[in-house]
Amino acid sequence: MDDLKIFDKNFTRKMKNENTFVKSLDGPLLISWDVTNRCNLNCLHCLNQSGDQDIHSFNDEISEKEALDLVDQIIEIRPYSMCLCGGETLLRKDLTTIIKKISSSGIPVNMVSNGFLLNDKKAKELKESGITLVQISLDGAKAKTHDIFRQVSGSFEKALNALIVLEKAKVSTAASFVPNKLNIDEFEDYVDLVVETGCRSIRMMPLLPMGRGLKNFEELEPNEQEYLDFCMSTQKKQKQYINQKLDIMWGDPLEHIYTAFYFNRTTPLQIEIRANGNLGVSTYFPISVGNIRRHKLKEYWECGYNKIWELPEVMDLASSIKTIYDFKELLNKTWVDKHLELDIIDDHRDEKLEVNRNG
Ligand code: SF4
Repeated sequence: MDDLKIFDKNFTRKMKNENTFVKSLDGPLLISWDVTNRCNLNCLHCLNQSGDQDIHSFNDEISEKEALDLVDQIIEIRPYSMCLCGGETLLRKDLTTIIKKISSSGIPVNMVSNGFLLNDKKAKELKESGITLVQISLDGAKAKTHDIFRQVSGSFEKALNALIVLEKAKVSTAASFVPNKLNIDEFEDYVDLVVETGCRSIRMMPLLPMGRGLKNFEELEPNEQEYLDFCMSTQKKQKQYINQKLDIMWGDPLEHIYTAFYFNRTTPLQIEIRANGNLGVSTYFPISVGNIRRHKLKEYWECGYNKIWELPEVMDLASSIKTIYDFKELLNKTWVDKHLELDIIDDHRDEKLEVNRNG
């Protein structure tokens, strides 16, 4: 899973204030689709341990034919926007076909990538496909720092080059950064480096104790003083580049949980589609509630997915998360020794959700 799910946070806030608009949406605000779990890197913090054969079966990922059918279903449900994530998105050969079809229907499509496979030709293809924004993971100002974190030498040069070729092809870009012990004191140089590529958006989020991030958490988590210094550096760089409209954004991985669970369980927010067609609820919850191979997306949406935060198992998970450190404990829950797989239609959970809603 690559770092940050692209989500327009200003838009989320606006939505909270403009409930009328939210209610007027027929579909979700965002559909987030992990187009593959395969990856050409092996990052120390990867949430879903992409590329790891012991964790994922790559044989059951959605085929090209299924992907085209899924695209039709996505267009039918009309999300406000769409994010293609992974794994490494560019490992999917049909990626630009997917983007072209969704974007030509008027739905904005963003994607994340580690940038390793990007070159001038690919950047041009992405531009022509109608992509709205590509977020490239770049985790240091020095090649050595990034390459250790990403576990593949040469990955820094490739990520940096990806930002350059995308900007050259006039594709909007964002650089994502996960502060950790290796890179946190390079942040000021990092900002200068990113600005030099032409990119004007830096998105950050904390290292999470999940997946490979859990295994490496103690070694990589910055301490309090490092985080405080980092905040000062962020403010300094924001001031320095104020006239160049540089946007440095801190993403709170818990925000969508608070929004959905504590504030408004009945607002349509997000559908999460995993590489094998499973429907998740949150990137961070080890639960799936259906599979697009069994029923259509619209059917799930209308049969309870649009109120999925009322499902008892989801409420149980959401109520146990107050800080990022609680992610560690998810694995200790009795039924979470592996992903819990439900089907809200086949298990008649849709009826239960109806009861919850009415009662
Ligand atoms: S690039 Fe790294 S973080 Fe992203 S999916 Fe691959 S292994 Fe995971």
